[in-house]
Amino acid sequence: LVSRQKKAENTVIDLKGELVGNGIPSFVFGPCAVESYEQVAQVAEVVKAKGLKLLRGGAYKPRTSPYDFQGLGLEGLKILKQVGDKYDLAVISEIVSANDIETALDYVDVIQIGARNMQNFDLLKAAGKVNKPVLLKRGLAATIDEFIHAAEYIMSQGNGNIILCERGIRTYERATRNTLDISAVPILKQETHLPVMVDVTHSTGRRDLLLPTAKAAIAIGADGVMAEVHPDPAVALSDSAQQMDFKQFDEFYKEIQKMMTGV
Ligand code: PEP
Ligand code: MN
Repeated sequence: LVSRQKKAENTVIDLKGELVGNGIPSFVFGPCAVESYEQVAQVAEVVKAKGLKLLRGGAYKPRTSPYDFQGLGLEGLKILKQVGDKYDLAVISEIVSANDIETALDYVDVIQIGARNMQNFDLLKAAGKVNKPVLLKRGLAATIDEFIHAAEYIMSQGNGNIILCERGIRTYERATRNTLDISAVPILKQETHLPVMVDVTHSTGRRDLLLPTAKAAIAIGADGVMAEVHPDPAVALSDSAQQMDFKQFDEFYKEIQKMMTGV
């Protein structure tokens, strides 16, 4: 069902007026984790000021260590919804359990399924049964074929509004947190009719590589770029090393716009 052979036209997903997959790159910015209303609202204000429509923030954080901050859970989703309503932004948040999909419907505009859950088939099926767009991330060590099949799990249950997100894969290379598989973008665009985004934060794990990889993503035809922004990354409860502060975010977005418009 996700195959380009089944449907020649691109799937375009309308998120509060932002058309993801319409040929113009969309941008998803926001903190790694929802930490407080004030923290998310500060980011939303900056995102809104740029004329952007999409805001991310993790409420359920799938952390490598059980002793690291696990997220605010439902309280985090509530904060995200409040901020999204206040600034008229579509909000995106990861759901890690099939049991939470129904609850999430009341709070988020897009359900994110994270890399660690790309083959959590119960979660994929649950997300496939609801009428809510899904942002599906590529697994840590998933082939493109496995990634496409994960999307098929969702669509086979009836939900066709899926955004694919390349977020780097595990390789022997340690200079970056993961290896951004940039060629996955045109392959996914050829093989499927779904929008394809690139998460430059989790693929590189390096603040200094966010801009060049975002440029590469757009140049190669990605439908969007995701990157993390935090009011004060030094005190962030997760991904402190790669989130942008507002100054870097301004420069980042200015450079991206320059590339896209030529001015
Ligand atoms: C995230 O986007 O918050 C995240 C945890 O990313 P990933 O699932 O790609 O590691
Ligand atoms: Mn993060």
